[in-house]
Amino acid sequence: MPIATVNPATGETLMTFDALSEEAVRERLDRAEAAFADYRATSFAHRAELLNRAADLLEADQETIARTVTSEMGKPLGAARAEAAKCVKAMRWYARHAEHLLADEQPAPDDVADSGAVRAFVRYRPIGPVLAVMPWNFPIWQVVRFAAPALMAGNVGLLKHASNVPQTALYLEELFRRAGFPAGVFQTLLVGSGAIEGILRDPRVAAATLTGSEPAGRSVAAIAGDEIKKTVLELGGSDPYLVLPSADVERAARTAVTARTQNAGQSCIAAKRFIVHERVYDAFTEAFVAGMRALRVGDPTDEATDVGPLSSEAGRADLEELVDDALRHGANALCGARRPPDQPAGWFYEPTVLTHLSTDMRIHREEAFGPVASLYRVADLDEAIALANDTSFGLSSNAWTRDEAEQERLIRDLAAGGVFFNGMTASHPALPFGGVKRSGYGRELAGHGIREFCNVTTVWYG
Ligand code: NDP
Repeated sequence: MPIATVNPATGETLMTFDALSEEAVRERLDRAEAAFADYRATSFAHRAELLNRAADLLEADQETIARTVTSEMGKPLGAARAEAAKCVKAMRWYARHAEHLLADEQPAPDDVADSGAVRAFVRYRPIGPVLAVMPWNFPIWQVVRFAAPALMAGNVGLLKHASNVPQTALYLEELFRRAGFPAGVFQTLLVGSGAIEGILRDPRVAAATLTGSEPAGRSVAAIAGDEIKKTVLELGGSDPYLVLPSADVERAARTAVTARTQNAGQSCIAAKRFIVHERVYDAFTEAFVAGMRALRVGDPTDEATDVGPLSSEAGRADLEELVDDALRHGANALCGARRPPDQPAGWFYEPTVLTHLSTDMRIHREEAFGPVASLYRVADLDEAIALANDTSFGLSSNAWTRDEAEQERLIRDLAAGGVFFNGMTASHPALPFGGVKRSGYGRELAGHGIREFCNVTTVWYG
């Protein structure tokens, strides 16, 4: 894949970049290693000062970086601004809480004595340069979600960003430099995915985190496994969205529209499979389809646009194949299932709702990375749960019910890294984020996220 900015709204190539040479990559790894030697010993207060400065700079840059993001991957400007604001918040959150999250842990005095120690505790120490392989869908957030905790923990970051967001990738390196982080503490490596193996096998790289597709995750995890290096994987999802009889159906339908179409549906935690109880199915479907039809698809720089283009021609082609396969096998489209006729250029796709789905269709098994909803009708809670779990993914899940017994049952039985009631899945710095099954492993955000790349060190005094 060439490293280039190609405007998804027009198909026009705006800027191209040369990949770094092997020699240039080696120099950056040297720099990362040298930077870690000093940076690991800095205080939390110092790191927090730098990270807060980065947050202030990002806040001031909000408009310019939002425009860059929109030009590179096509999300509406308002959404790009919101993404930048969310990153500012996460940076400030980690700047404020990291010291507490990584404070020494004291076992119970009885247990310390039982271990034969006069004193013992656990300290979270940094592990070194961490490689972050990141996707284009939230090109600032995915990186900050990794970088803010990593840098607060005393690690240093190496970013291999998606090849279609090079300007955003370079901006992020510059942002951390301007904030005062020493050279080498956060570096962008403009390389294609073919260069990842060499970087990951380099002894100076301690660990890796990847957000992206299953094949990319499998490859990085296999190489890291071979090198005995830790990984965190945040892969795809096909999150269920259950609507049960006690739901506020009107709100559930309104939220469903946003949950499926934000970021043009290109979100791992987007609700993708809508599983609706027969008692509320008709009312939900009517409101949901009306909401999907009412969305404005078009130029992402137009403030009135709800849904921009998909990020790439290949991404749209993949989505079209999934929809065509479903239609060929008997699915019915209640809306969409086509390119908007008034948008001849760019990689647009109309918000789509599919019904009459069956297990032999690809869309039943695969992630639909675009504004396409799969709608299922179920007779009871058991059927809803069975269908929700009938997937190889397990990122998050959503359920609309006010019945507490149902809620407890769903917390117990939904096989996912999150269960969100009466709302849609969203990430927050204070809440851990990640999945089970083929959605990956490990957690980002909160205390769980910052501890992933730490050496959990037992300190024992005889
Ligand atoms: P990829 O997984 O291909 O890209 C994500 C990142 O991984 C990029 O930096 C990419 O680099 C890199 N990468 C690609 N192939 C490999 C590999 N073999 N080994 C190591 N790194 C690799 O996602 P796509 O953009 O191609 O999207 C394909 C599908 O992935 C989507 O339709 C969606 O289902 C899923 N996806 C999920 C995301 C999520 O948030 N969980 C985000 C993006 C995609 P490069 O750009 O240079 O190829």
